[in-house]
Order: sequence, then structure tokens, then C-alpha cells
Amino acid sequence: MNTTAAPATKVRKIRLLQSMPFFLLHVVAIVGVFLVPFAWKWVGLCVGIYYLRMFAITGGYHRYFSHRTYKTSRAFQFFMAALAQSSAQKGALWWAANHRHHHKYSDQEEDIHSPLHTGFWWSHAGWILSKDNEATHWDLIGDFKKYPELVWLNKYPHVPAFALAIGLFLAGGASALMWGFFMSTVLLWHGTFTINSLSHVYGTRRYTTTDTSRNNFWLALLTLGEGWHNNHHCYQSSTNQGFFWYEIDITYYVLKGLSAVGIVWDLRKPPLELLEAKRIAKGDRPGVKDAMPLTPSDTRKKTGPAPVPEREPLTAQA
Ligand SMILES: [Zn+2]
Ligand SMILES: [Zn+2]
Repeated sequence: MNTTAAPATKVRKIRLLQSMPFFLLHVVAIVGVFLVPFAWKWVGLCVGIYYLRMFAITGGYHRYFSHRTYKTSRAFQFFMAALAQSSAQKGALWWAANHRHHHKYSDQEEDIHSPLHTGFWWSHAGWILSKDNEATHWDLIGDFKKYPELVWLNKYPHVPAFALAIGLFLAGGASALMWGFFMSTVLLWHGTFTINSLSHVYGTRRYTTTDTSRNNFWLALLTLGEGWHNNHHCYQSSTNQGFFWYEIDITYYVLKGLSAVGIVWDLRKPPLELLEAKRIAKGDRPGVKDAMPLTPSDTRKKTGPAPVPEREPLTAQA
């Protein structure tokens, strides 16, 4: 019998039937690659398409639609949304609105994917499969609602993914489909999900933030720069998430290249004074071995009452 008074916790459930395609795609990817003729070029295709779409997720879904860290044309924003949606991670506007919600409530009770409050697997994938998070938070993404083409894409989120799968099959047959779409998509899902789960658990913290975000070199390689997550939570409006030359941030390098030819512009950088002000003193900096606290109350024990969140406006322009 439980004698300790536990706080009422929200019951979190995934929709099993509606989540079947998610689980089935894992099975098809893992079994499928053994059923088709093997060649290293298919592995190369898998990795190439993984990183191409990862760029669209980090450069599009995240740094453009969620945080508006740079500007671009209406045509290119549509292209980025469609390319990112070929990852089968729902609509660009759904994604960006949920992500704005994450920053608004990072690691507080309301955060829809906080490893601290909801557990690791929920923060990794469970929240996406839940009925609670199916709807698009239109109130959080009003700035993009005026583009009917984006609203259409958001309404039919799987069109780009189907188009990619069909295109790969027509171009390269079953091997291209299995490696280039199924395996690549499943890996891309988990690569992206690490930012909501592992990036709030493993790594180092350089800046004071009101959440558990961390910087992690390996996750930055896997996600083209998203692993500098503590940097990002410190200053969300910056296009670059690697703040120093040694913090590899491929998405930023590609965006810099695109800005050199005029496809994107007004890339934003973090103000140095703000970064210095938020820097955690060296001796107090938790390291890789500093695992996250197990429960929110452990955090309170360590740090005292949660500080009043200090957040910059999501859509602030320089
Ligand atoms: Zn963000
Ligand atoms: Zn985060």
C-alpha cells in the first residue's frame, strides 16, 4: 500500500491503433533491408537522405518555423516545409507550434516532452503518439497561418513522405525504397527525437537556463548542430547553435552558404554580453557524468525554488 501522498500526475497514454504505422515502419525498415539485394551505395543513399532531411528539420522546422532566426522567400519556406515533412514527422506548423510550447514551459509540468517530468521514453517518442498532442496549437503559430500552402501541407502532412517513397522506388527499386526511405526515416525519427530526450539528459551546461538542456558533441554530429541544446535554450533566436568555432554546426554552415547566394538572409547571432552574463562559473558547471535529477523535487532540493523564467520573445527580431 502506498502511504506517501504523491502529487496527482496526469495519465499519459499513447493511441495504440493510430500509432501502428509508427511501429510498423520500424518492422518494415529492420526486416526490409535484409530482404532486398545489398550494396554499399544503398547505405550511402540512406545516410544521404537522412542528412538532407535532417537539414530541413533543423534549418526549417526548428530554426525557421519555430524560432524565425533568419528570413527567406515564400517559395523557399514552402520548399523547406515540404522537404522536412518528407521525414513523416507531421506538419511544419504542428511541429513548430509544439516546439514553441516546449520553450514556453521547458521542463515545467506543462512541458509536453520533458524527461524530467514525463520520463525518458515519453519525451523521446511517446508524446508524438498521444491523443493530447495531435492538434496544431494555432494560437502559437499565428504568424504562419496566413500562408494557405503551409496550412494545406499541415493538413495533409504525409503527402511529401509518400512522394519521396514513390520517387525512390521508381528511381532505384525496392533497395532504394528500403534503405532510402524506410531505414533512413526510422533513423531520422530517432535522431530528431534525441533532442527532446537525450539533449535534456546527457552533456554539459555552459549557461544558466530554467531547464535541463545540455550541450553534447555527439548529438550535434547526429543532428547537424542541434546537440548544442544548452546554447539554444540560452538564446533561442540565434541561427547558429554552435557558439564557438569548435562547436560543429553543419546546419548553420549550410544556411551561411545559402545566405551567400541570397536564398536566405538576416541570419541572427547571439549577443556576446548576454552569453557572458548567463555563463555558469567553471567550478559549478555540471559535466557529462552529472546525470539529471530523477524527480522534479530533487531539482528543487539542489537549487532551491525554481527561478522565475526569463524568456526572450519567440518571434523577436533583431
Ligand atoms: Zn528550439
Ligand atoms: Zn529543449
